[in-house]
Amino acid sequence: MEVVNALRMAQILIRARLKTARCVVDATAGNGKDTLFIAANTPADSTVWAFDIQEQALRKTRELLFQNGFDSKVRLINDSHAKVSYYIGTAIDAAMFNLGYLPGGSHAINTQPENTIAALSQILSQLVISGIVTIVAYPGYEHGLTEMAEVSYFLNQLPQKEYCVACWSMVNQINHPPLLYIVERVSENTQP
Ligand code: SAM
Repeated sequence: MEVVNALRMAQILIRARLKTARCVVDATAGNGKDTLFIAANTPADSTVWAFDIQEQALRKTRELLFQNGFDSKVRLINDSHAKVSYYIGTAIDAAMFNLGYLPGGSHAINTQPENTIAALSQILSQLVISGIVTIVAYPGYEHGLTEMAEVSYFLNQLPQKEYCVACWSMVNQINHPPLLYIVERVSENTQP
């Protein structure tokens, strides 16, 4: 059996949904591993949007996509995911978030809960029925724990008739392993 962790599990759970996707978001491009995964698993005519506030991250992502021949289907946005609706006006089929700081970069530049929740709200309102969003959160350091708690609170409030929300983690790992949240849209807005 394949050795899984939260990052790999997010990819496993979202992969089937990517096969027919037209519009997919990587909300935290970082070094580009998820962006590459999305680009490699979506139809050739789909559009992948990858956001990061650090030019250094987008440079790495661009290089990785270019090396693998996927640069033309990905739109790299050097801006906050909190402005996702400003850039994407269409329905969204799937999105991935990998919270925290850029591996190999400054640990002082982290995702912030208010931006993460703003991005999630916009993406969830544009998500198609059967669309999936994955969020990997890191409770092993103070900022990550706070962010995880705020994101968890937000996800807990989502109406269950409209969204199905689950959480996955390794249970025998030391030092607070990452948590994976999975959201699937199951119906249109049911609010009056
Ligand atoms: N998924 C990436 C990969 O596969 O390499 C790793 C992502 S890394 C854990 C988190 C990234 O989120 C960092 O590169 C950071 O710059 C970015 N980030 C932080 N705040 C952001 C925001 N408001 N909008 C978009 N990206 C943000």
